[in-house]
Amino acid sequence: MPFDPLKVAKSVEEVVCRGKKRKYYRFRWTRFYGGSATADVVGCNLRCVYCWSWKYVTQPEKYGKFYSPSEVAAILNHFLQKHGGIARMTGGEPTLCFDHLIDVLERVEGEFVLETNGILLDEEKVEALASFDNLFVRVSLKGVDRESFEKITGAKGEFFDRQIRALELLAEHGVPARPAILLNLFRREELVRLQARLLRISPRYILELEPFSDYGGALKRLREKGITVYSLEQYS
Ligand code: SF4
Repeated sequence: MPFDPLKVAKSVEEVVCRGKKRKYYRFRWTRFYGGSATADVVGCNLRCVYCWSWKYVTQPEKYGKFYSPSEVAAILNHFLQKHGGIARMTGGEPTLCFDHLIDVLERVEGEFVLETNGILLDEEKVEALASFDNLFVRVSLKGVDRESFEKITGAKGEFFDRQIRALELLAEHGVPARPAILLNLFRREELVRLQARLLRISPRYILELEPFSDYGGALKRLREKGITVYSLEQYS
């Protein structure tokens, strides 16, 4: 049965948020975005078949340690001072434990890329994000429509609309943002239709197309679900 990702968010927050602290399983320097200080959070409100951090998403009680916002910011700032680049959170859904996220953003001394599925971004949260001038939001779309969203995430298809709504709210509030999607899970014409819809929201919403990579057993799970991974040649 498809689930309600808002209800899942609440139950996951009970595990990964503790006051202003949040669970993380790793901090590292990566080459993404030309160099990024990266904090890997534990826990998500979706269950995307291709998720590369599957075990941290599905068993949040088992992994990670709690860190305060100042501890997280100190680690990220250390990487930024040493290597330059940007800071980011990934590995799960950073907008869970939202008060923690805001406190980290207030302390990070550099550009911050927020990678999110956008499901939890309502007007109030987007207004809070709009107060940061060092923030860029990357909304990772999980489908091209309700049907594909439900098949990929396990969540009810209607919540695809909340991903689109998050992009609308970010545009309305002037928060720099971009939609992204895994390229080769969708047919070319489906992506063309989605791109046209996004451009009606904002002329700046050019889809970032990310090729599928088989991390953490993702291909096996996609095959079990009957989801095709298309050859990259069909897009050239
Ligand atoms: S939204 Fe991201 S972290 Fe969450 S299940 Fe999907 S791929 Fe994994």
